[in-house]
Amino acid sequence: MQDEVLILGGGVAGCAASIALARKGRSVTLIEREPSPRHKVCGEFLSGEALEDLHALGIDVASLGAVPLNYVRLAAARRAAEAPLPFPAASLTRKALDTALIAAAVAAGVNVLRGRSVQSLSRTTGGLWTARVDDGAVYEAPTVFLATGKHDLRGHARPKDPHQWVAFKMYYRLSEGQKTDLADASELMLYSGGYGGVQPVEGGVVNFCCVVERRLFARAGLRWEGLLRKMQQDCPHLAMRLEGAEPLLEKPITVTHIPYGYIRRMTEDGLYCIGDQAAVIPSFTGDGISIALHTARQAAAAYLAAEPAPVFQPKLRSAMLPQMRLAEVAANGLNNGLARAVLPFCLRVWPGAMRVTAKLTRVTQPAATVAPQLSANSI
Ligand SMILES: Cc1cc2nc3c(=O)[nH]c(=O)nc-3n(C[C@H](O)[C@H](O)[C@H](O)COP(=O)(O)OP(=O)(O)OC[C@H]3O[C@@H](n4cnc5c(N)ncnc54)[C@H](O)[C@@H]3O)c2cc1C
Repeated sequence: MQDEVLILGGGVAGCAASIALARKGRSVTLIEREPSPRHKVCGEFLSGEALEDLHALGIDVASLGAVPLNYVRLAAARRAAEAPLPFPAASLTRKALDTALIAAAVAAGVNVLRGRSVQSLSRTTGGLWTARVDDGAVYEAPTVFLATGKHDLRGHARPKDPHQWVAFKMYYRLSEGQKTDLADASELMLYSGGYGGVQPVEGGVVNFCCVVERRLFARAGLRWEGLLRKMQQDCPHLAMRLEGAEPLLEKPITVTHIPYGYIRRMTEDGLYCIGDQAAVIPSFTGDGISIALHTARQAAAAYLAAEPAPVFQPKLRSAMLPQMRLAEVAANGLNNGLARAVLPFCLRVWPGAMRVTAKLTRVTQPAATVAPQLSANSI
């Protein structure tokens, strides 16, 4: 079977690229290993840029139940400070978002193959890319978009993560008092060896997503309960927020080895790398989905303009490098004990700093459309 373009991975980046290409009349096959969308480790924060890109793709997040977020709150040691978010933002479960994106790809005419895992990707001497899937079928195309997110394909892997980060996501139903107190804020909690975020998502549920260095998880006996206790001891605000909360998953979902700070330098001809396969920004920025949408849009435009992948990829890297590096510096700051102790105090004195930091760590420019205003009344 041969199409003009094969897209490997049907998450945010893969779906966005497939929709952009199919709308321009290209024949596209998208291969996604999960038979249906499922929960993914993600804070589920949608930045203003992400909202605009999703709107341009025809995804109406308000009708999917997205919760508008208006504040960011930072908690470390015994202090907490808050500031209004400097851009419109919302949160939506990945299950709902991925379901809508796959449906939009199908509606755009993409040939979507689900429940098939790509095992290998190689190139024939004639220059065609060949993807072999787990049922033995082979798909060929002159152009491939690599969009497998956190998962690497053999022969195309990103470098190892030296910090050995481990990330968890858990859903909770908060007590009434804590739900009211959290309100429309995205909370960032800092503790030794990592950070976590708490925010409301649709259905009156709260997402707690956290990242820790593996050594910390090992010290907690590689057990979620021990790790959660340790994070709550370090950050009393988290203990308060989760007091009386009902866990909604049997156990948290987990992902390991996240190469934060990675930006792909080079690629081979006919292989466009997008989403987490192009760049992995520290999670606290809440910008990964926006980067996935942005890199997908840029790569699709490059392909349509006949810009070869080996020219496109280094250009994308240069454009994203300054903000990626800034986000990394900020992430290192969050991981520093002294910075953790003084940050909330500084932000109380100068809440504008939080707005500036939030603005500077936005990597992307959204698609040129106007997103609908999200308000509590609109959903
Ligand atoms: C702890 C944590 C918190 C985060 N919080 C946020 C946040 O709040 N806001 C935000 O914007 N970003 C956040 N991110 C980042 C965001 O989740 C990612 O950047 C984004 O999902 C990347 O999109 P993607 O399309 O590259 O990958 P994904 O959305 O993960 O999609 C990749 C797809 O490829 C499929 N796949 C993988 N391997 C194969 C294979 N071999 N064959 C076929 N299919 C395959 C997978 O099943 C998956 O559906 C967070 C990340 C982490 C780790």
